Amino acid sequence: MTVALRVLLVEDYEDDALLILRALRRAGLDVASLRVQDAAGLTAALSHTWDVVISDFSLPGFSGMDALTLCRASDGQVPFILLSGTVGEETAVAAMKAGANDYVMKDNMARLAPTLLRALQEAATRAELRRTELKLIESERRFHAFMDASPIIASIRDGNGHTVYGNRGWNDTVGHAADIPVARTTSDQVVLATGMAAESIEEINRPGAAPTYWKNIRFPFVGAAGQRLIGEFSTDITTLKQSEETIRKLAYLDVLTGLPNRRLMIDRLTHAMASCVRRGIYGALMLINLDNFKVLNEVHGHAAGDIVVQQSGRRISECVREQDTVARIGGDEFVVILEGLGKLAVDVAIDVDAIGRGILQAIAEPYLLDVTSHKLTASIGIAFFHDQQHSPEELIKRADLALGNVKTAGRNNQLFFDPAMQARVTLRNTLEADLREGLAQNWFALHYQPQVDSEGRLTGVEALMRLAHPVKGLMMPNSFITLAEETGLIVDLGYWALDTACRQLQDWAQNSATAQLTLSVNLSARQLGDDDFVPRVLALVAATGIDPSRLLLELTESLLLDEIELTIDKMTILCEAGLRFSLDDFGTGYSSLSYLKRLPLHEVKIDRSFVRDLLGHVNDAVIVRAILAMGQSFGLSVIAEGVETIAQRDFLIENGCRRFQGYLFGRPVPVEMLELGNTVAA
Ligand code: C2E
Ligand code: CA
Ligand code: CA
Repeated sequence: MTVALRVLLVEDYEDDALLILRALRRAGLDVASLRVQDAAGLTAALSHTWDVVISDFSLPGFSGMDALTLCRASDGQVPFILLSGTVGEETAVAAMKAGANDYVMKDNMARLAPTLLRALQEAATRAELRRTELKLIESERRFHAFMDASPIIASIRDGNGHTVYGNRGWNDTVGHAADIPVARTTSDQVVLATGMAAESIEEINRPGAAPTYWKNIRFPFVGAAGQRLIGEFSTDITTLKQSEETIRKLAYLDVLTGLPNRRLMIDRLTHAMASCVRRGIYGALMLINLDNFKVLNEVHGHAAGDIVVQQSGRRISECVREQDTVARIGGDEFVVILEGLGKLAVDVAIDVDAIGRGILQAIAEPYLLDVTSHKLTASIGIAFFHDQQHSPEELIKRADLALGNVKTAGRNNQLFFDPAMQARVTLRNTLEADLREGLAQNWFALHYQPQVDSEGRLTGVEALMRLAHPVKGLMMPNSFITLAEETGLIVDLGYWALDTACRQLQDWAQNSATAQLTLSVNLSARQLGDDDFVPRVLALVAATGIDPSRLLLELTESLLLDEIELTIDKMTILCEAGLRFSLDDFGTGYSSLSYLKRLPLHEVKIDRSFVRDLLGHVNDAVIVRAILAMGQSFGLSVIAEGVETIAQRDFLIENGCRRFQGYLFGRPVPVEMLELGNTVAA
């Protein structure tokens, strides 16, 4: 049994309605119909379901267009066919634009059935499409709801790296910070359950201050349009990473100080040793023990002990470089690992000694406890690592032995395990102490070496410094000037020498036999660098009332290398005040002639190395001749130093040299031993 076609007729003429039904039945359609003729009737009828509405165009007080509007308002989909007897096609077309499905002219009723069937067919197709569309929308909606409800952060990127999909989790988290991963920590190939190869990546990104860690799984797949896409599932693993970090810290860091513990120290030491051995440079291990820490704990309590330990840990850290390790390995025991120290044992020993002394000093500063302050000292044992490989344990044992020696010797000090290294720093430290004491006790003296003309007559002297040590005897400048420069003691020592020299000139000025003599004093870089240098020298000259042109200041080329402009300024001021400058050790430096010309010089001294080999090496003879020629053309006085033989002097004279200094004419001697009989103005 076929179901009758439900047809709603909007028609005021019963006859026309019958004509319509007849036309349909004639076409073999089984029709169940209802006829309405006004708005009220139509509205009531539209509460039922109809397969098709056939409406007359003109109705009394109502029109086909009105009927169409009502139909579309109640059910947008029902096929609507307009029947027209009077109006032209234009009006019908306008009706179709307004939503009618088709129209049939009343005088062509035979077209009605086919038109209706076509309209029904179209409606069915539309309905089917709509159903599919709804299904798709529903499927899409379900997918979004599902993905958005998921704790996973999901996104899809196209081949150009543009994100084409991101779920809610993605939008809320990675989305706004997307594509700015700061670091990729690990990356592995993983195979998904589908058998697809994917990449598992851990990334850090920092949208704000705190790092956020992501675990991402990326996998390629092909999209609906055959497009290659990259899917990504991400999870925020920050909490996991933080717990890992906490666990790591607990395992490797000392809780009280936050410094590496013994375990991490051994690890770092192992690495440091390997690296130093490989690079052929020194490293050092320092074992630091707080002296009488037990007593502090007993008297002030453990809380106070903790404060002291924390503070000393901090103080030790401030004494070393960023790359060095400070560890706490026991109650009051610290370890410092110094890496990459250098290749020269002497320098290394001295550097480490200085660092150790810095630590001893820092620890000796008072500690503020609750109400009181407390003072304490430390002992340090030091072992070096270099080319031969020991185990870290062996090295710690060595540092511990050295530490034991410090303790037996009375604590508050440091010692090296290696006796040769120890000897070096001890020597240096003793020498430094000698220099300080020498300054305080007036152990320094100036000796004077004659400078003569070609006739052998005395024109001046060079002042050379000596340290008359009460026990060690006379010490020569080569053994202490470098250290005096490194420690800065040279500044005070230099002022002392200048002061002594000026007094000597003042003394000689009283006597006509010596009034013409010049006096040369050596300067070192640190002295010239001193801001007070110029005013102090000028004050000295004024105070002693000497003729400033009698005082020659000797400097070396290397001294001129730093801050050349400032140095030239200072020299110029002194020159304008009448003092003179001599360029010492000339020929050994690298100065260009143009640069020399800018210096306000009075004299150059041919270095004694050229004079020594003058007769043996052709090169040296050439250099000496060149210096003499240059001196002449620049209007500089040239003096040869280190002249030891008559042959050397004769060669120099032959080549135009007129002034000499050297053992041939006299060694540096105390002032009372100078022979002042045969003097002449230079
Ligand atoms: P210098 O300025 O080149 O001094 C010349 C050095 O050569 C002196 O050594 C002198 O004793 C030595 N000498 C002189 N004639 C001869 C010779 O014929 N043959 C040999 N072989 N040597 C000779 P000295 O006194 O040991 O001084 C060494 C260096 O110490 C000086 O080299 C100078 O650079 C530095 N010095 C000495 N006194 C002072 C000072 O007061 N201040 C500063 N900053 N440095 C000084
Ligand atoms: Ca000199
Ligand atoms: Ca010299």
